[in-house]
Parts: sequence; C-alpha cells; structure tokens
Amino acid sequence: MKKVVILGERQAGLVEVPDPQPKQDWVVVKVRASALCTEYKSYLAGRPLAAGGHEGAGEVAATADPGPVKTGDRVVILPQYPCGRCALCKKGDYVYCENNLDFQAFTGSADGCGTFAHYILKPGWLLPPIPDGMSYEHATMAIDGIGASFGAFQAIQVSALDTVLITGLGPVGLGAVVNARFRGARVIGVEPVPWRRERALQMGAEMVFDPGEPGLVEKILACTEGQGATCSVECSGKVASQRLCLDATRRRGRVAFVGESNDTLAVRASPDLLRKGLTLVGSWLYNLYDYPRVIQVIQESPLIDLLISHVIPMSRIQDGFELLASGQCAKVVVDPWR
Ligand SMILES: [Zn+2]
Ligand SMILES: [Zn+2]
Repeated sequence: MKKVVILGERQAGLVEVPDPQPKQDWVVVKVRASALCTEYKSYLAGRPLAAGGHEGAGEVAATADPGPVKTGDRVVILPQYPCGRCALCKKGDYVYCENNLDFQAFTGSADGCGTFAHYILKPGWLLPPIPDGMSYEHATMAIDGIGASFGAFQAIQVSALDTVLITGLGPVGLGAVVNARFRGARVIGVEPVPWRRERALQMGAEMVFDPGEPGLVEKILACTEGQGATCSVECSGKVASQRLCLDATRRRGRVAFVGESNDTLAVRASPDLLRKGLTLVGSWLYNLYDYPRVIQVIQESPLIDLLISHVIPMSRIQDGFELLASGQCAKVVVDPWR
C-alpha cells in the first residue's frame, strides 16, 4: 500500500509499504477519506509524522477474531490506540487513556497506524458505524472537524440561550461555529485570517473581529449589553486569546479551552475566576458515548459542506499541507485512492 511520509522541510510524498494484516480484535480498514490536521506543522519543520494521520473514515477490509465489526462495514476511524480496559476507557473517555498500546510491539511493524495511507489497523471497538447515505468525506468530520469542539460544547452545556465567543477560526474553530449554530447559539468570532473570518460569517457568525483590533474586550461587551459573552470556546491556542476569553465572558459564564498550547497563561484566582464565578474547563475530543450526537450534527447541519473547503487526492498531499499553512482553508480532506 501507499502511505504519506515527510521527506524534508516543506516536502512530503508517498512511499510503498507492506499492507497491514488483521490480528486478534484488530481489523484492517480501507481508508476512504482522511482529514488533515496538525500534521502540517511536521511538514513545515521537516519532522517525521508522529502517527501519519489521525482522522479518517473507511470500510472494514479484513478481520481476524469475531468482534463488533465485519468486512464491508462503513466506519469512522477514531484516533489513538487506547487500552480499552482502564476506568477512563470504560467510561468512554478513551482519549485520556494513560495505557495507550504500543502499536509496533503488537503488530511488529510501524506501518498501518495512520490514516494518510490506503489501509489502517484498528481495534474494532474504535470503529463506530457511519449511517447509510453519509459520505466518507462528511463522516471523517466526526474526529476534529466537528468532534474537537463538540466535547467542549457538551462540557459547558451550550444552548440556544447562549452568546458564544469563539477565538481562532481555523478548521477546529470553524467546526465550533457549526456546533454553535446547530444548537441555535449566537456566535461572535475572533480570527486574524480574512479568508477564515469570511467563512465564519457565511456560516452564520454574527460578527467576527481581528485579534489585532484595539479595544476588543470593549467591542465584545458593546454587542452583549455590556455583560460579555455567556460562554467562550478558545480554539487558537494563543495566550492573548485565552486571556480575551476570560475577560470577555460575563460573570457566572463558562470558558472551554480547546486549542493546544504549551505557553503560560497567567490566571489570577480572585478576579479571573472566583469573584467572577467563571467555570474554566479543558476539553480534548469527546466521550465515545456522545458519538451518535456528533454524527447527528454532521447529518443535520446545513453547514458541513462549508466546513470542508477542499477534497484533494493523497498524491497531492504536499498541496494540502501548503493550504493549511496558508490559512486559506477550512477542513482539507484527502482521498487516499486518488
Ligand atoms: Zn485532528
Ligand atoms: Zn485505557
């Protein structure tokens, strides 16, 4: 089979590797669509890909032991190789599993663990079904397109009564706009790239500011009766935007951090949290038992085709990474078989 590799700084291509083989409850899935995500950062730096794609959808191609899926099933390919046995996995919080399995030790190969390839090997329990009539391109939005922010929306219980501030309108932040509009919430966005500001407005965001604009907190207060947003979903990973979420969310509001960041945010317990009564949560993907709700958003939202801005052949993977680096895109989906 073919899989994507990073060949150097801003260089990516395909190599031929052996097809993965099913083993015990691990099955082979023919990847039919995969979405690009943080991998473009490895592409820009010339670093090897950690997993080689973690968002995908496809068709079960081969099984070993009997399990929850059979050959021909259309499935979403959930990320990682969690143990399936610990308390977190059993509760559906598999993404937080501390005992992720060693893929290479179990399979004897480093190939077949990423979705930027013709085939991937996965335990059957991480392959929930795709409803009839849903395309593979749409189904792969069940990972970070819709799923990354969905967990945050559940954690802070966003409803039609809310005005949500969404900072960072890249592929994950635009997915947050879809989730917010699906729940009937009002959206205020913040994003530096004009293409993405425009896309958020097309999706129904009421107003979208540039983070470089002066007086941003005051502007957000001015359009929320002087009180601030009822809740915020931070998707940029930038400290200034994390701070903006704390400052532009009203008293007793809720703030969820979704954007990855290793930088230090200074939080003052009294003015930022306890005197203000803010709830601050971090959220990474969503609980497995919420999968049907995530699929419902994909099935029913009229905005999914705006969330997927490009579908490209895997043979043009380099163009896909360049698109993400340019910011002129929402979710970019690759077709491994073209
Ligand atoms: Zn992702
Ligand atoms: Zn586990």
